Amino acid sequence: MTPLTCPVLVIGAGPGGYVAAIRAGQRGLDTIVVEAARPGGTCLNVGCIPSKALIHLAEEFHRVAELAQANPLGITAGTPAIDLGKGMAWKDGIVARLTGGVAGLLKKAGVRVVTGRARFVDGRTVAVDTPEGPVTIRPQTTIIATGSVPVELPALPFGGRVLSSTEALALAEVPGSLAVVGGGYIGLELGTAFAKLGAKVTVVEAGPRLLPAYDADLTAPVAARLKALGVAVLTGTRALGLTGTGLRVQGPNGETEVEADKVLVTVGRRPNTAGTETLGLTMDGPFIRTDARGRTSMTGILAIGDVTGEPMLAHRAMAQAEIAVETAAGTRAGWDKRCIPAICFTDPEIVTAGLSPAEAGSVARTDSFPFKANGRAMTVGRDDGFVRVVSHKETGLVLGVQAVGAGISEIAAAFALAIEMGATVQDIAGTIHAHPTQGEAFQEAALKALGHGLHL
Ligand code: NAD
Repeated sequence: MTPLTCPVLVIGAGPGGYVAAIRAGQRGLDTIVVEAARPGGTCLNVGCIPSKALIHLAEEFHRVAELAQANPLGITAGTPAIDLGKGMAWKDGIVARLTGGVAGLLKKAGVRVVTGRARFVDGRTVAVDTPEGPVTIRPQTTIIATGSVPVELPALPFGGRVLSSTEALALAEVPGSLAVVGGGYIGLELGTAFAKLGAKVTVVEAGPRLLPAYDADLTAPVAARLKALGVAVLTGTRALGLTGTGLRVQGPNGETEVEADKVLVTVGRRPNTAGTETLGLTMDGPFIRTDARGRTSMTGILAIGDVTGEPMLAHRAMAQAEIAVETAAGTRAGWDKRCIPAICFTDPEIVTAGLSPAEAGSVARTDSFPFKANGRAMTVGRDDGFVRVVSHKETGLVLGVQAVGAGISEIAAAFALAIEMGATVQDIAGTIHAHPTQGEAFQEAALKALGHGLHL
Protein backbone atom coordinates (compact mmCIF):
# COMPACT_ATOMS: atom_id res chain seq x y z
CA MET A 1 0.00 0.00 0.00
CA THR A 2 1.29 3.51 -0.80
CA PRO A 3 2.53 5.22 2.35
CA LEU A 4 0.42 8.10 3.65
CA THR A 5 2.28 11.39 3.82
CA CYS A 6 1.49 14.48 5.86
CA PRO A 7 3.22 17.49 7.40
CA VAL A 8 2.03 16.53 10.92
CA LEU A 9 1.43 13.14 12.46
CA VAL A 10 0.17 12.92 16.03
CA ILE A 11 0.46 9.60 17.87
CA GLY A 12 -2.21 9.29 20.54
CA ALA A 13 -5.53 11.14 20.79
CA GLY A 14 -5.59 11.90 24.52
CA PRO A 15 -5.87 15.49 25.81
CA GLY A 16 -2.37 16.24 24.47
CA GLY A 17 -2.73 14.48 21.14
CA TYR A 18 -6.25 15.52 20.21
CA VAL A 19 -5.58 19.16 21.07
CA ALA A 20 -2.39 19.05 18.96
CA ALA A 21 -4.27 17.48 16.04
CA ILE A 22 -7.15 19.97 16.23
CA ARG A 23 -4.80 22.94 16.50
CA ALA A 24 -2.65 21.67 13.60
CA GLY A 25 -5.77 21.16 11.50
CA GLN A 26 -7.01 24.66 12.37
CA ARG A 27 -3.66 26.01 11.23
CA GLY A 28 -4.20 24.44 7.82
CA LEU A 29 -1.64 21.66 8.29
CA ASP A 30 -2.70 18.35 6.77
CA THR A 31 -2.75 16.21 9.92
CA ILE A 32 -3.11 12.53 10.73
CA VAL A 33 -3.74 11.25 14.26
CA VAL A 34 -3.20 7.60 15.14
CA GLU A 35 -5.19 6.22 18.06
CA ALA A 36 -5.56 2.59 19.15
CA ALA A 37 -8.79 3.10 21.10
CA ARG A 38 -11.50 5.77 21.28
CA PRO A 39 -10.34 9.40 21.07
CA GLY A 40 -9.98 11.16 24.41
CA GLY A 41 -7.22 9.00 25.91
CA THR A 42 -7.04 7.97 29.55
CA CYS A 43 -8.56 11.26 30.72
CA LEU A 44 -11.87 11.05 28.89
CA ASN A 45 -12.26 7.27 28.72
CA VAL A 46 -10.93 5.82 31.96
CA GLY A 47 -9.53 8.71 34.01
CA CYS A 48 -10.50 12.26 34.91
CA ILE A 49 -14.01 12.31 33.49
CA PRO A 50 -15.42 8.93 34.54
CA SER A 51 -13.81 9.28 37.97
CA LYS A 52 -15.43 12.69 38.48
CA ALA A 53 -18.78 11.17 37.45
CA LEU A 54 -18.31 8.35 39.99
CA ILE A 55 -17.29 10.85 42.69
CA HIS A 56 -20.46 12.85 42.02
CA LEU A 57 -22.65 9.76 42.06
CA ALA A 58 -21.10 8.63 45.35
CA GLU A 59 -21.54 12.08 46.89
CA GLU A 60 -25.23 12.17 45.93
CA PHE A 61 -25.77 8.73 47.47
CA HIS A 62 -23.89 9.67 50.61
CA ARG A 63 -25.85 12.89 50.99
CA VAL A 64 -29.15 11.06 50.91
CA ALA A 65 -27.75 8.52 53.41
CA GLU A 66 -26.78 11.41 55.69
CA LEU A 67 -30.20 12.98 55.33
CA ALA A 68 -31.78 9.67 56.30
CA GLN A 69 -30.21 10.29 59.72
CA ALA A 70 -31.28 13.06 62.09
CA ASN A 71 -29.90 16.27 60.61
CA PRO A 72 -29.89 19.97 61.46
CA LEU A 73 -31.57 20.89 58.14
CA GLY A 74 -34.84 19.35 59.27
CA ILE A 75 -35.06 17.07 56.23
CA THR A 76 -36.45 13.57 56.47
CA ALA A 77 -35.35 11.04 53.86
CA GLY A 78 -35.47 7.28 53.43
CA THR A 79 -32.40 5.04 53.41
CA PRO A 80 -31.05 5.11 49.84
CA ALA A 81 -30.26 2.10 47.67
CA ILE A 82 -28.05 2.04 44.60
CA ASP A 83 -28.01 0.19 41.30
CA LEU A 84 -24.34 0.80 40.51
CA GLY A 85 -24.67 -0.78 37.05
CA LYS A 86 -27.22 1.91 36.16
CA GLY A 87 -25.02 4.63 37.62
CA MET A 88 -22.07 3.35 35.61
CA ALA A 89 -24.21 3.43 32.45
CA TRP A 90 -24.97 7.11 33.19
CA LYS A 91 -21.21 7.71 33.55
CA ASP A 92 -20.54 5.82 30.30
CA GLY A 93 -23.05 8.08 28.56
CA ILE A 94 -21.06 11.15 29.60
CA VAL A 95 -17.84 9.54 28.36
CA ALA A 96 -19.49 8.62 25.04
CA ARG A 97 -20.77 12.18 24.60
CA LEU A 98 -17.31 13.63 25.18
CA THR A 99 -15.34 11.13 23.09
CA GLY A 100 -17.92 11.54 20.30
CA GLY A 101 -17.45 15.29 20.64
CA VAL A 102 -13.69 14.97 20.23
CA ALA A 103 -14.15 12.79 17.13
CA GLY A 104 -16.42 15.52 15.74
CA LEU A 105 -13.91 18.26 16.52
CA LEU A 106 -11.12 16.31 14.79
CA LYS A 107 -13.32 15.91 11.72
CA LYS A 108 -14.24 19.60 11.73
CA ALA A 109 -10.53 20.47 11.82
CA GLY A 110 -9.95 18.21 8.80
CA VAL A 111 -7.81 15.71 10.73
CA ARG A 112 -7.55 12.17 9.37
CA VAL A 113 -7.88 9.50 12.08
CA VAL A 114 -6.05 6.19 11.64
CA THR A 115 -7.15 3.47 14.08
CA GLY A 116 -4.41 1.22 15.42
CA ARG A 117 -1.20 1.17 17.45
CA ALA A 118 1.68 3.16 15.95
CA ARG A 119 5.30 2.01 15.99
CA PHE A 120 8.34 3.88 14.69
CA VAL A 121 10.22 2.00 11.97
CA ASP A 122 12.67 4.90 11.86
CA GLY A 123 12.56 8.64 12.52
CA ARG A 124 10.64 9.28 9.28
CA THR A 125 8.46 6.18 9.08
CA VAL A 126 5.63 5.02 11.31
CA ALA A 127 3.85 1.68 10.91
CA VAL A 128 0.29 1.09 12.11
CA ASP A 129 -1.64 -2.17 12.20
CA THR A 130 -5.18 -1.05 11.46
CA PRO A 131 -8.29 -3.24 11.34
CA GLU A 132 -8.03 -2.92 7.52
CA GLY A 133 -4.40 -4.01 7.42
CA PRO A 134 -0.94 -2.46 7.84
CA VAL A 135 -0.53 1.24 7.04
CA THR A 136 2.74 3.15 6.66
CA ILE A 137 2.90 6.88 7.34
CA ARG A 138 5.74 9.19 6.36
CA PRO A 139 5.25 12.54 8.11
CA GLN A 140 7.45 15.62 8.12
CA THR A 141 6.94 16.10 11.86
CA THR A 142 5.65 13.59 14.41
CA ILE A 143 4.22 14.58 17.79
CA ILE A 144 4.40 11.72 20.29
CA ALA A 145 1.48 11.97 22.74
CA THR A 146 1.23 8.40 23.98
CA GLY A 147 0.50 9.21 27.62
CA SER A 148 1.04 6.90 30.56
CA VAL A 149 -0.10 3.56 31.97
CA PRO A 150 -0.72 2.41 35.55
CA VAL A 151 2.24 0.97 37.45
CA GLU A 152 1.71 -2.68 38.32
CA LEU A 153 3.06 -4.22 41.55
CA PRO A 154 4.85 -7.55 40.98
CA ALA A 155 3.12 -8.99 44.07
CA LEU A 156 -0.31 -7.82 42.87
CA PRO A 157 -0.60 -8.13 39.08
CA PHE A 158 -3.82 -6.68 37.63
CA GLY A 159 -6.57 -9.22 37.04
CA GLY A 160 -9.20 -11.05 39.09
CA ARG A 161 -9.67 -9.29 42.43
CA VAL A 162 -6.80 -6.88 41.74
CA LEU A 163 -8.06 -3.81 39.92
CA SER A 164 -6.45 -0.83 38.25
CA SER A 165 -8.47 2.39 38.20
CA THR A 166 -9.90 1.32 34.83
CA GLU A 167 -11.61 -1.77 36.27
CA ALA A 168 -12.65 0.10 39.43
CA LEU A 169 -14.48 2.58 37.19
CA ALA A 170 -16.44 -0.25 35.61
CA LEU A 171 -17.61 -2.19 38.69
CA ALA A 172 -21.29 -3.12 38.47
CA GLU A 173 -21.59 -3.66 42.22
CA VAL A 174 -20.19 -1.90 45.26
CA PRO A 175 -17.64 -4.29 46.83
CA GLY A 176 -18.27 -5.18 50.46
CA SER A 177 -14.67 -4.35 51.26
CA LEU A 178 -12.00 -2.60 49.22
CA ALA A 179 -8.28 -2.32 49.96
CA VAL A 180 -6.66 0.60 48.16
CA VAL A 181 -2.91 0.22 47.72
CA GLY A 182 -1.39 3.69 47.31
CA GLY A 183 -2.80 6.76 49.06
CA GLY A 184 -2.10 9.23 46.24
CA TYR A 185 -4.39 11.08 43.85
CA ILE A 186 -6.25 8.15 42.33
CA GLY A 187 -6.41 5.96 45.42
CA LEU A 188 -7.98 8.65 47.57
CA GLU A 189 -10.37 9.93 44.91
CA LEU A 190 -11.75 6.46 44.17
CA GLY A 191 -11.36 5.12 47.72
CA THR A 192 -13.47 8.00 49.06
CA ALA A 193 -16.12 7.42 46.39
CA PHE A 194 -16.46 3.72 47.24
CA ALA A 195 -16.54 4.49 50.97
CA LYS A 196 -19.44 6.89 50.34
CA LEU A 197 -21.19 4.13 48.40
CA GLY A 198 -20.95 1.90 51.46
CA ALA A 199 -17.79 -0.19 50.91
CA LYS A 200 -15.50 -0.86 53.86
CA VAL A 201 -12.34 0.85 52.59
CA THR A 202 -8.77 0.47 53.85
CA VAL A 203 -6.02 2.62 52.34
CA VAL A 204 -2.55 1.07 52.44
CA GLU A 205 0.12 3.72 51.93
CA ALA A 206 3.87 3.01 51.94
CA GLY A 207 4.84 6.58 52.88
CA PRO A 208 4.51 8.16 56.33
CA ARG A 209 1.27 9.94 55.37
CA LEU A 210 -1.36 10.25 52.67
CA LEU A 211 -0.77 12.36 49.56
CA PRO A 212 2.97 12.73 50.21
CA ALA A 213 3.23 15.33 47.42
CA TYR A 214 1.31 17.82 49.58
CA ASP A 215 2.24 19.32 52.94
CA ALA A 216 0.59 18.09 56.13
CA ASP A 217 -1.57 21.25 56.59
CA LEU A 218 -3.22 20.61 53.22
CA THR A 219 -3.81 16.92 53.77
CA ALA A 220 -5.08 17.14 57.38
CA PRO A 221 -8.70 18.04 56.44
CA VAL A 222 -8.74 15.15 53.94
CA ALA A 223 -7.43 12.73 56.58
CA ALA A 224 -10.08 13.98 59.03
CA ARG A 225 -12.87 13.46 56.50
CA LEU A 226 -11.64 9.95 55.62
CA LYS A 227 -11.80 9.13 59.32
CA ALA A 228 -15.34 10.50 59.55
CA LEU A 229 -16.31 8.35 56.57
CA GLY A 230 -14.94 5.28 58.33
CA VAL A 231 -11.99 4.75 55.97
CA ALA A 232 -9.08 2.97 57.68
CA VAL A 233 -5.70 4.42 56.77
CA LEU A 234 -2.53 2.36 57.24
CA THR A 235 0.56 4.47 56.64
CA GLY A 236 4.12 3.16 56.54
CA THR A 237 2.56 -0.03 55.21
CA ARG A 238 3.25 -2.11 52.09
CA ALA A 239 1.09 -4.65 50.36
CA LEU A 240 2.67 -8.10 50.22
CA GLY A 241 0.09 -10.12 48.29
CA LEU A 242 -3.39 -11.61 48.24
CA THR A 243 -4.74 -14.05 50.78
CA GLY A 244 -7.92 -16.12 50.32
CA THR A 245 -10.23 -13.28 51.35
CA GLY A 246 -7.99 -10.31 51.88
CA LEU A 247 -4.66 -8.61 51.46
CA ARG A 248 -1.49 -9.29 53.43
CA VAL A 249 0.36 -6.13 54.43
CA GLN A 250 3.57 -5.28 56.23
CA GLY A 251 3.24 -2.31 58.56
CA PRO A 252 5.20 -0.70 61.40
CA ASN A 253 3.89 -3.41 63.77
CA GLY A 254 4.59 -6.37 61.50
CA GLU A 255 2.40 -8.38 59.13
CA THR A 256 -1.39 -8.23 59.21
CA GLU A 257 -4.29 -8.99 56.94
CA VAL A 258 -6.74 -6.44 55.56
CA GLU A 259 -10.27 -7.41 54.52
CA ALA A 260 -10.51 -7.03 50.74
CA ASP A 261 -13.14 -8.37 48.38
CA LYS A 262 -11.32 -6.22 45.82
CA VAL A 263 -7.87 -4.65 45.81
CA LEU A 264 -7.38 -1.39 43.92
CA VAL A 265 -3.73 -0.72 43.08
CA THR A 266 -2.93 2.97 42.51
CA VAL A 267 0.80 3.33 43.06
CA GLY A 268 1.49 5.79 40.26
CA ARG A 269 1.66 5.85 36.48
CA ARG A 270 4.61 5.43 34.13
CA PRO A 271 5.16 6.98 30.72
CA ASN A 272 4.06 4.90 27.75
CA THR A 273 7.08 4.92 25.42
CA ALA A 274 6.21 1.62 23.71
CA GLY A 275 6.81 1.87 19.97
CA THR A 276 9.45 4.61 20.24
CA GLU A 277 12.39 2.36 21.24
CA THR A 278 13.88 2.24 17.73
CA LEU A 279 14.49 6.01 17.83
CA GLY A 280 17.00 5.90 20.69
CA LEU A 281 15.74 9.25 21.98
CA THR A 282 17.52 10.97 24.86
CA MET A 283 15.53 10.24 28.02
CA ASP A 284 15.01 11.87 31.41
CA GLY A 285 14.71 8.71 33.50
CA PRO A 286 11.69 6.91 32.03
CA PHE A 287 10.43 10.06 30.26
CA ILE A 288 11.27 11.40 26.78
CA ARG A 289 13.40 14.52 27.16
CA THR A 290 12.02 17.60 25.41
CA ASP A 291 13.01 21.26 25.27
CA ALA A 292 10.78 24.32 25.80
CA ARG A 293 9.51 24.00 22.20
CA GLY A 294 8.56 20.33 22.57
CA ARG A 295 11.54 19.02 20.54
CA THR A 296 13.14 15.68 21.39
CA SER A 297 16.76 14.80 20.63
CA MET A 298 15.76 13.79 17.08
CA THR A 299 14.93 16.35 14.37
CA GLY A 300 11.29 16.19 13.34
CA ILE A 301 10.17 14.31 16.47
CA LEU A 302 8.29 16.24 19.15
CA ALA A 303 6.71 14.92 22.34
CA ILE A 304 4.05 16.21 24.74
CA GLY A 305 2.08 15.13 27.80
CA ASP A 306 2.66 12.36 30.35
CA VAL A 307 5.36 10.75 28.19
CA THR A 308 7.52 13.87 28.76
CA GLY A 309 7.45 14.04 32.56
CA GLU A 310 5.72 15.32 35.68
CA PRO A 311 3.24 16.61 36.49
CA MET A 312 1.24 14.05 34.52
CA LEU A 313 -1.83 16.21 34.09
CA ALA A 314 -4.20 16.62 31.15
CA HIS A 315 -4.07 20.42 31.17
CA ARG A 316 -0.26 20.42 31.02
CA ALA A 317 -0.44 18.15 27.96
CA MET A 318 -2.96 20.50 26.32
CA ALA A 319 -0.70 23.51 26.90
CA GLN A 320 2.31 21.63 25.51
CA ALA A 321 0.23 20.62 22.48
CA GLU A 322 -0.30 24.21 21.38
CA ILE A 323 3.43 24.93 21.61
CA ALA A 324 4.41 21.74 19.75
CA VAL A 325 2.11 22.64 16.86
CA GLU A 326 3.75 26.07 16.60
CA THR A 327 7.13 24.31 16.48
CA ALA A 328 5.84 21.94 13.78
CA ALA A 329 4.56 24.95 11.81
CA GLY A 330 7.99 26.60 12.02
CA THR A 331 6.87 29.37 14.40
CA ARG A 332 8.91 30.22 17.48
CA ALA A 333 6.93 29.46 20.61
CA GLY A 334 8.15 28.10 23.91
CA TRP A 335 6.97 27.09 27.34
CA ASP A 336 6.80 30.20 29.53
CA LYS A 337 4.00 29.24 31.90
CA ARG A 338 4.30 30.42 35.47
CA CYS A 339 2.26 27.66 37.03
CA ILE A 340 0.45 24.41 36.34
CA PRO A 341 -2.43 24.21 38.81
CA ALA A 342 -3.22 20.79 40.22
CA ILE A 343 -6.39 19.54 41.85
CA CYS A 344 -6.93 16.49 43.93
CA PHE A 345 -10.65 15.68 43.83
CA THR A 346 -10.73 14.23 47.31
CA ASP A 347 -13.24 15.31 49.95
CA PRO A 348 -12.48 18.11 50.63
CA GLU A 349 -10.71 19.00 47.38
CA ILE A 350 -7.11 20.23 47.34
CA VAL A 351 -5.92 22.89 44.89
CA THR A 352 -2.34 23.99 44.38
CA ALA A 353 -0.94 26.62 42.03
CA GLY A 354 2.62 27.93 41.96
CA LEU A 355 5.09 27.56 44.82
CA SER A 356 4.41 25.93 48.17
CA PRO A 357 5.72 27.71 51.30
CA ALA A 358 8.67 25.30 51.40
CA GLU A 359 9.51 25.86 47.72
CA ALA A 360 9.28 29.63 48.05
CA GLY A 361 11.64 29.63 51.06
CA SER A 362 12.64 32.52 53.29
CA VAL A 363 11.85 35.29 50.76
CA ALA A 364 8.17 34.49 51.18
CA ARG A 365 5.47 34.90 53.79
CA THR A 366 2.47 32.62 54.12
CA ASP A 367 -1.03 33.75 55.07
CA SER A 368 -4.12 31.62 55.29
CA PHE A 369 -7.80 32.19 55.88
CA PRO A 370 -10.00 29.40 57.25
CA PHE A 371 -13.41 28.56 55.82
CA LYS A 372 -14.63 28.49 59.45
CA ALA A 373 -14.76 32.29 59.12
CA ASN A 374 -16.36 32.28 55.63
CA GLY A 375 -20.13 32.77 55.46
CA ARG A 376 -20.67 30.91 52.22
CA ALA A 377 -18.78 27.84 53.44
CA MET A 378 -21.04 27.72 56.51
CA THR A 379 -24.20 27.97 54.41
CA VAL A 380 -23.26 24.91 52.37
CA GLY A 381 -22.57 22.98 55.54
CA ARG A 382 -18.84 22.57 54.94
CA ASP A 383 -16.53 24.95 56.75
CA ASP A 384 -13.44 22.70 56.84
CA GLY A 385 -10.31 23.85 55.03
CA PHE A 386 -8.67 27.15 54.13
CA VAL A 387 -7.05 29.26 51.39
CA ARG A 388 -3.33 29.96 51.75
CA VAL A 389 -1.37 32.61 49.87
CA VAL A 390 2.41 32.51 49.52
CA SER A 391 3.75 35.95 48.60
CA HIS A 392 7.10 37.70 48.28
CA LYS A 393 7.84 39.51 51.56
CA GLU A 394 9.08 42.69 49.89
CA THR A 395 7.21 42.99 46.58
CA GLY A 396 3.95 41.26 47.54
CA LEU A 397 4.12 39.16 44.35
CA VAL A 398 1.87 36.13 44.63
CA LEU A 399 4.19 33.13 44.32
CA GLY A 400 1.75 30.38 45.15
CA VAL A 401 -1.79 29.67 46.31
CA GLN A 402 -3.03 26.49 47.94
CA ALA A 403 -6.48 25.68 49.19
CA VAL A 404 -8.40 22.82 50.66
CA GLY A 405 -12.16 22.84 50.88
CA ALA A 406 -15.39 21.34 49.56
CA GLY A 407 -15.96 22.47 45.96
CA ILE A 408 -12.76 24.53 45.96
CA SER A 409 -11.67 23.15 42.56
CA GLU A 410 -13.81 25.77 40.83
CA ILE A 411 -11.64 28.56 42.28
CA ALA A 412 -8.44 27.07 40.81
CA ALA A 413 -8.74 29.33 37.76
CA ALA A 414 -8.57 32.46 39.95
CA PHE A 415 -5.39 31.23 41.64
CA ALA A 416 -3.67 30.32 38.37
CA LEU A 417 -4.76 33.59 36.74
CA ALA A 418 -3.31 35.61 39.62
CA ILE A 419 0.06 33.90 39.29
CA GLU A 420 0.11 33.96 35.47
CA MET A 421 -0.73 37.68 35.43
CA GLY A 422 1.95 38.49 38.02
CA ALA A 423 -0.58 39.73 40.58
CA THR A 424 0.51 41.03 43.97
CA VAL A 425 -1.36 40.60 47.25
CA GLN A 426 -2.35 44.26 46.84
CA ASP A 427 -4.06 43.33 43.53
CA ILE A 428 -5.94 40.43 45.10
CA ALA A 429 -6.94 42.46 48.17
CA GLY A 430 -8.03 45.33 45.92
CA THR A 431 -10.20 43.16 43.68
CA ILE A 432 -13.86 43.17 44.70
CA HIS A 433 -14.72 39.54 45.44
CA ALA A 434 -18.44 38.81 45.21
CA HIS A 435 -20.16 38.11 48.51
CA PRO A 436 -21.01 35.54 49.78
CA THR A 437 -18.55 33.19 48.08
CA GLN A 438 -15.77 30.85 49.13
CA GLY A 439 -13.50 32.94 46.89
CA GLU A 440 -13.58 35.71 49.51
CA ALA A 441 -11.17 33.57 51.53
CA PHE A 442 -8.56 34.30 48.81
CA GLN A 443 -9.05 38.04 49.24
CA GLU A 444 -8.97 37.68 53.03
CA ALA A 445 -5.67 35.76 52.92
CA ALA A 446 -4.24 38.56 50.77
CA LEU A 447 -5.52 41.17 53.23
CA LYS A 448 -3.79 39.25 56.01
CA ALA A 449 -0.53 39.40 54.04
CA LEU A 450 -0.95 43.20 54.01
CA GLY A 451 -1.46 43.18 57.76
CA HIS A 452 -5.13 44.13 57.82
CA GLY A 453 -7.33 41.06 57.57
CA LEU A 454 -10.98 41.96 58.15
CA HIS A 455 -12.92 38.91 59.19
CA LEU A 456 -10.49 37.16 61.50
P1 NAD B 1 0.43 9.04 42.99
O1 NAD B 1 1.86 9.19 42.67
O2 NAD B 1 -0.42 10.22 43.21
O3 NAD B 1 0.30 8.16 44.33
C1 NAD B 1 0.85 6.88 44.48
C2 NAD B 1 0.95 6.57 45.97
O4 NAD B 1 1.28 5.21 46.12
C3 NAD B 1 2.02 7.37 46.69
O5 NAD B 1 1.44 7.96 47.83
C4 NAD B 1 3.07 6.31 47.05
O6 NAD B 1 3.74 6.61 48.25
C5 NAD B 1 2.22 5.06 47.18
N1 NAD B 1 2.91 3.79 46.95
C6 NAD B 1 3.82 3.50 45.98
N2 NAD B 1 4.17 2.19 46.05
C7 NAD B 1 3.45 1.64 47.06
C8 NAD B 1 3.33 0.31 47.62
N3 NAD B 1 4.03 -0.72 47.13
N4 NAD B 1 2.47 0.10 48.65
C9 NAD B 1 1.75 1.14 49.15
N5 NAD B 1 1.81 2.40 48.67
C10 NAD B 1 2.64 2.65 47.63
O7 NAD B 1 -0.15 8.06 41.88
P2 NAD B 1 -1.64 7.77 41.40
O8 NAD B 1 -2.62 8.09 42.46
O9 NAD B 1 -1.61 6.38 40.85
O10 NAD B 1 -1.83 8.81 40.22
C11 NAD B 1 -1.00 8.72 39.04
C12 NAD B 1 -0.96 10.03 38.30
O11 NAD B 1 -2.22 10.35 37.78
C13 NAD B 1 -0.48 11.16 39.17
O12 NAD B 1 0.84 11.44 38.83
C14 NAD B 1 -1.40 12.29 38.81
O13 NAD B 1 -0.66 13.28 38.14
C15 NAD B 1 -2.43 11.72 37.88
N6 NAD B 1 -3.75 11.98 38.44
C16 NAD B 1 -4.22 13.24 38.55
C17 NAD B 1 -5.46 13.46 39.10
C18 NAD B 1 -5.96 14.85 39.22
O14 NAD B 1 -5.39 15.76 38.64
N7 NAD B 1 -7.02 15.08 39.98
C19 NAD B 1 -6.24 12.43 39.54
C20 NAD B 1 -5.74 11.16 39.43
C21 NAD B 1 -4.50 10.95 38.87
